[in-house]
Formats: sequence, structure tokens, C-alpha cells
Amino acid sequence: MKTHIVSPNQEWLERAKEHILQGGVVAFHTETVYGLGANAFNDEAVKSIFALKGRPADNPLIAHVHRDYDISKIVDEVPAYTEKLRKAFLPGPLTMVYPSKGKVSRYVSCGLDTLAIRVPSSLAAQAFLREVDLPIAAPSANRSKHVSPVTAQHVYDDFEGKIPLILDGGACDGGIESTVLDCTGEIPVILRAGLVTREMIKSVVGACGVYEKKAGERPKSPGMAYKHYAPKCKTAYFTAEEIGQAIVCYREEEEKGGRPYFFLESGFAKELTKKGFRVFDLGETGEQMAQRLYAALRQAETQATLLIAIEPSVRGGVMDGVMNRLTRAFGRTNDET
Ligand code: AMP
Ligand code: MG
Repeated sequence: MKTHIVSPNQEWLERAKEHILQGGVVAFHTETVYGLGANAFNDEAVKSIFALKGRPADNPLIAHVHRDYDISKIVDEVPAYTEKLRKAFLPGPLTMVYPSKGKVSRYVSCGLDTLAIRVPSSLAAQAFLREVDLPIAAPSANRSKHVSPVTAQHVYDDFEGKIPLILDGGACDGGIESTVLDCTGEIPVILRAGLVTREMIKSVVGACGVYEKKAGERPKSPGMAYKHYAPKCKTAYFTAEEIGQAIVCYREEEEKGGRPYFFLESGFAKELTKKGFRVFDLGETGEQMAQRLYAALRQAETQATLLIAIEPSVRGGVMDGVMNRLTRAFGRTNDET
């Protein structure tokens, strides 16, 4: 199969719709990361996403819909506070999990009695979702565990010859995946941190919890239990106090004939660049680091033999989401990975 990277004009949108109606899979741009989509009503199509990605069968998918799609067709209950959240943040990088049983293919939510729904703001995504007028089940368009894709080329690198179309909307502005919010209880609870922060949600509905898995419990957002976002090169992770050790680690890799790079926020990056070290500069703010994280990891794996991160100093807001991805990409997490 030839994989085409195409602009989402009418002709290609119609081709994309044909593929979807025939049970095929199409990759598409969103404002967070690229998605790998299939008709959420079609069992075989949804199963093929898991096969293509090598995704564990208990890690549920998000259903993507256009802004005017009537979600009462696919959920059982719409808690009152979700109305406020929809008005404040949608379309945008917020996924809401609703009670839902038997409305779409059971493979979307891996047998859970809930459904995660997102309304992306990207124009390319909206055009595609409007054209198909169906809920599109879509995880990020990367091979399972690999770094999430933020350009059409990243998707191509993982799925060349395996999918027919990539709807190219350019680079993804947001850079990390949506916030996943459990809306099945009395107050919303964040299952995965992202660009819509806890503070932002609280300011709209007054309260917002953050899910913490209890020992031995099955995680509510099963995807969070897996090692994720890993670049193909070796990685090492140090705190700011361990900078001396990080430099030793860099030198040792060079002595072995390797090509180490540091992976740093701007302050440190500037300092170490001046001293002649090779560096990826993630930026200063949480928003900048979110936007650059995956692009930098994808680039790093083509250039570096060893990528050495030093823990950023910025905290709070979007940084919660960035730290979650960064520590998982570098294998530094308390999750059962
Ligand atoms: P991905 O699209 O690859 O970024 O993964 C989707 C994320 O949403 C994963 O962390 C899933 O565990 C989470 N998710 C999807 N559906 C549900 C659901 N019904 N309940 C809880 N989490 C979900
Ligand atoms: Mg993913």
C-alpha cells in the first residue's frame, strides 16, 4: 500500500471518507498530536487500529467528533457541569469521559462502561470529522510506546506502507495529548494532565480532582500504566543537583565513540551550549516545552546515541502534563511501566 501525505482539500476528504466507510484507517492532524482514526461503530476497523499500533488491548481509544455532533447519540448521561466545560474549552484539547454502554464498538473503550470524547479544534480535523459525520476512534498515530507524532512526516515514519492517507495540517501547535477528564462522578477528575489545566477547569466548575491510582488497583485511564513516548536512542535522566553526574555521563558516552546530547530547558541549555556541549533546547515556559517536546525527541533519536535530560525547574499548569510525558519518555516514573 502506498501512503499519501495529502492536504485536507475536498477531494482528499472525500477519499478519506471512502476509506473510513470501508473500514479503513486514516491519520489526521489535530491541535495536540496526529491521530490514527477509524469508524467507532465498526468492530473490525477499531480492532485494526490496535493491530497497526501494537497497542495493548486494554488501553481504550478516544472518540473524536465534529463540533456540531450530537453526543447524546453515543453517551448515556451528560452531567450538568460538562455543559460549562464544553462551552469553555471545546473545540480544544480536552477529552471528557462519559458514562456510555453499548453505543459504539465495545473495542473503543475495551469493555469499560464509559466513552472518552474529544472535539478537536484543528481545522483539518474538523473538516475530516464533518465530512465523515461519524465518531472516529483515534489514539495518537505512533507505534505503541514510541514518541507521539506532531508532524505528518512523523506519522509516515511509523506507518509508511501500512495506511493509505495522512491528512496533513502542518505541525501540531499544542504538542502534547489532550487532558483526559473523568466526567462520570460528581466532580470532574483529571486522568491524564494536558494543555487544559486543573486550574483552568476549577475556574469554570469550581472543583477538579486529580486521579491517583491506589496500590493494586487497575488504573482508571489504563493507558497511563504503560511506558510511553520513548525515543529510539538510549536515555538518562538527572535532577538539577545531579548536573555533575550528567556531565560525566555525557563525557563517558563521547569516550565510547557515541554522540550524546543534553535535553534541557532554556536556562541550562544556553549555559551548556556556551561550554561546547550538544543540546536540545526545550524552551522556557510550560507551553513552549509542551510544543517542542515530541518534535525534539523525534529529532534526537535520529542524531543522538544517548539523550540526557535534566529535570526542568518550571512547575504547575501545563508543566504537569509535560513532566508526565518527559519522565515516561526517559523511563523515570512511578507507574508500573
Ligand atoms: P492516546 O490517544 O494514545 O493518547 O490514548 C488515549 C488516552 O485516553 C489513554 O490514556 C486512555 O487510557 C485514555 N482513555 C480513553 N478512553 C478512556 C475511558 N473510557 N476511560 C478512561 N480513560 C480513557
Ligand atoms: Mg498515545
